[in-house]
Amino acid sequence: MTDRKRRRLIQGLAAGSALGLTGCQSLYSASSIALPDYPFKLGVASGEPGIGDLVLWTRLAPNPIAGGGMPQINVPVRWELAADESMRQVLRQGRVTAGPRFAHAVHVELNHLEPGREYFYRFYAAGEASPVGRTATLPENPQRLRFAMASCQHLERGYFGAYQHIINDSPDFLVFLGDYFYETGGGRNRLRSHARGEPMSLEDYRIRLAEYRLDPDLQEAHRLIPWVANWDDHEVDNDYAGLDNQDLASHALFAARRRAAYQAFYEHMPLRQKSRPAGNAMQLYRALEFGGLARLLVLDGRQYRSVQACREEARKTGRALGPDCLERLEPERSYLGGVQELWVESQLRKRQPDWTILAGPQVFSPFEQTKNDLPAFWNDDWNGYPAARKRLIAALQAHAVKNPVFVGGDVHSFWANQVPSDPDRRDSAPVASEFVTTAITSNGPPYDFFMQQMPKNPHVKYFESRYRGYSLCQMTRERWQTDCYSVDRSSAKPERVRLASFVVDSGNPSPQRA
Ligand code: FE
Ligand code: CA
Repeated sequence: MTDRKRRRLIQGLAAGSALGLTGCQSLYSASSIALPDYPFKLGVASGEPGIGDLVLWTRLAPNPIAGGGMPQINVPVRWELAADESMRQVLRQGRVTAGPRFAHAVHVELNHLEPGREYFYRFYAAGEASPVGRTATLPENPQRLRFAMASCQHLERGYFGAYQHIINDSPDFLVFLGDYFYETGGGRNRLRSHARGEPMSLEDYRIRLAEYRLDPDLQEAHRLIPWVANWDDHEVDNDYAGLDNQDLASHALFAARRRAAYQAFYEHMPLRQKSRPAGNAMQLYRALEFGGLARLLVLDGRQYRSVQACREEARKTGRALGPDCLERLEPERSYLGGVQELWVESQLRKRQPDWTILAGPQVFSPFEQTKNDLPAFWNDDWNGYPAARKRLIAALQAHAVKNPVFVGGDVHSFWANQVPSDPDRRDSAPVASEFVTTAITSNGPPYDFFMQQMPKNPHVKYFESRYRGYSLCQMTRERWQTDCYSVDRSSAKPERVRLASFVVDSGNPSPQRA
């Protein structure tokens, strides 16, 4: 399908016959829909893969960078699910409405699909057909599972070529761990530039998301791999916490901004209806089940958290907090919020799969730094919420969770950790494993400084902040493996290099070099 400028005025029946439809013409209304250009420029996506269910996504946007370019009316969209890439053997089809309320995005939830098989899908609207997407369900009782981990893709810092290699790996799904886009930009060393300044309004966020989605590598990764999307802070505003934000906007003002950002995120991700924003909130935490092999808990680390401890001091002296910040230690402070904490515990109480994967946006393990010769802890990740971290560790122990594995992003570096059962004694017996993936493009933290802190942090088995890239995780009942790949962000057609591999044997929560 070409992208050239054209104006289409298609009668419903003509559209149907042009697509070779038989008996489906009535799916188009008799009204004519005039669109200024090809409406599927943002591509297609699938997500939330289960044993017999998944979500298909597209958004009609003939002019994505100018707010979408759609008329403010409901437009009928037809979808097809087929057994073959040429879409000849159609297995299911249906019709949905794309409306202005959600930027003409559609989310089609499919249930009772055949487990463990590949599917192809396509959307039709206003006489045009979308690209053909590829997706897959998980087998009834999977014996192995492979997923890619990605996070932190600042468009101005480079190309998203890591996705070319993720596509080659053909994982069962991709877990995106947050910072899908950055709200801020500018400065030196830009390889590309954001089209506009910092987003504030719903229209701004839609444009920012659409701009990222026009990236060919990112769009192709959505077309070919089912995604499980999480967010961190930059999807709204750097380091926000609930309704507190770094710009010190009032809660009411920031609530409006956050609502806009959440809605735009929902509109651009293959999420289920239950994640549809309601009021100021959007439910993103959820569980995905993979038979007896694994359960994936997607944790929302931003929407419900207590404000960062000693925020005003941290603002002046850097965000690592020394022993004089007592607020950090207050027991009622929560990273997940009370309701999500209870939900996590209810998930841990369930029938145990071999692996319980906790996909939070950030590092879970403690990390002690030295500042002014005193121990100090970062205030924005779990290190700023030590009581909440202890509650989650206690829940893992109370329910004797088999093989918990934390996965995260946010720090633009690779980590392999054994999570100590007592975070204050970092050489205490491990209670879980943890793998953190580096950024797709965002700048890494200072390598030498972090390496200097490692003697105080013997639970950290691997740290590498000098490379951009992604991680690939695979597991069988007996063993987990994580491969860390570096990919050059400055190249549009990059090579990849395997930096390190780690395995975790079932029953021994300690990553070992493979
Ligand atoms: Fe980031
Ligand atoms: Ca972040």
